[in-house]
Amino acid sequence: MYRTHYSSQITEELDGKKVKVAGWVYEIKDLGGIKFVWIKDREGIVQITAPKKKVAPEVFKLIPKLGMEDVIAVKGTVNFTPKAKLGFEILPDSIEVLSKAQSPLPLDPTGKVKAELDTRLDNRFMDIRKPEVMAIFKIRSSVFRAVRDFFYREGFVEIHTPKIIATATEGGTELFPMKYFEKDAFLAQSPQLYKQMMMASGLDRVYEIAPIFRAEEHNTTRHLNEAWSIDAEMAFIENEDEVMNLLERLVAHTISYIREHSEKELEILGFQLEEPKLPFRRITYTEALEILADLGKEIPWGEDIDTEGERILGSYIKENYDEDLYFLYQYPSEAKPFYIMKYDNKPEISRSFDLEYRGIEITSGGQREHRHDILVEQIREKGLNPESFEFYLKAFRYGMPPHGGFGLGAERLIKQMLDLGNIREVILFPRDRKRLTP
Ligand code: ATP
Ligand code: MG
Repeated sequence: MYRTHYSSQITEELDGKKVKVAGWVYEIKDLGGIKFVWIKDREGIVQITAPKKKVAPEVFKLIPKLGMEDVIAVKGTVNFTPKAKLGFEILPDSIEVLSKAQSPLPLDPTGKVKAELDTRLDNRFMDIRKPEVMAIFKIRSSVFRAVRDFFYREGFVEIHTPKIIATATEGGTELFPMKYFEKDAFLAQSPQLYKQMMMASGLDRVYEIAPIFRAEEHNTTRHLNEAWSIDAEMAFIENEDEVMNLLERLVAHTISYIREHSEKELEILGFQLEEPKLPFRRITYTEALEILADLGKEIPWGEDIDTEGERILGSYIKENYDEDLYFLYQYPSEAKPFYIMKYDNKPEISRSFDLEYRGIEITSGGQREHRHDILVEQIREKGLNPESFEFYLKAFRYGMPPHGGFGLGAERLIKQMLDLGNIREVILFPRDRKRLTP
């Protein structure tokens, strides 16, 4: 092993002991009789101090030949001393160069010289060497861990549904077509129909974490063409409230988990993540339109609340209640897909909701229509052909319990949680209107 300890694992008990550290050359300082190298690993920085009198001549001579971002492994003695910036240093017995870095570098991994987002994404491997970028991806990893923990604890079964599909979920828009031997197929825009079919299987509570593909033409800071969706579906619910209750607990649990387990990363990002209050505020679509109208933004009843409307509502809630997360619910049926249940006594309103985080939608969900004949009718109403949904409708003819669920965009959640400006910051290799490599 080239490494016995990460930088963060070198504590006072190791004073005077031998260790092996390894990483990327971050800084070199040559004062003639004493030379310094700082190396960076996943957890932080280590200082290597080489006084001419105390280290082997070949080690001393090697240091000036090192270049920025070379990968090196160092074996040496830990020395705790107040003279070292970090409180300790390593006096090297040997330095081994494992990989040389070419010069010039495609970007400055110390972050002193700012790079354009495109340059950063073209060189993502190096971009992540910056602590604040690495912090985002460590947090992302913890978010998925928190989500899985939550579902496991709540008795959900993880499922995996196909990503190559024959039928569009909600109509033919926003899909990537592909050839599937002699047939036409698409990349899945959502696991919606499949997770619903699983409600007829007896698994009762399922979730899936997988990519979704959407051929959105527009280039925005909150859309990707390949995103990760956290989907859940639960059977035997009485109303959409039960789904909202589950979702708000999931989001609150995830935020608490990050506050607790990603303290160091939040500090690197200089970000104060606040614990949300439960339950989240619930505002009906109609109330939202009234608030917007009072603020000078008129949206005709029935139309979706646009990006600007969402943003205005987000600031309104923040200013008046100091809350970042809230539900919008009871959307007009015409603004929602065919599979959403309508209120029996008020069919123009649907049992749907969106969860908003700092003025941006992060989730859509609701209670589904589980009654076969009404579902067929709703498919027709949206101008779609029930025949192309036969594989799905079949699951509604042999015992389908009432059910509901949601799709939570992982990148939207992380972007909004950390209040970042661009969704591309939270996915390693974004797929957008222009970007197909790396
Ligand atoms: P929007 O109107 O904001 O584009 P949507 O209503 O089309 O989103 P849904 O079909 O409701 O999106 O998908 C459920 C969730 O999946 C969204 O709330 C969002 O978090 C996420 N999502 C949808 N499309 C994208 C995308 N193109 N990029 C990233 N996340 C997405
Ligand atoms: Mg939506």
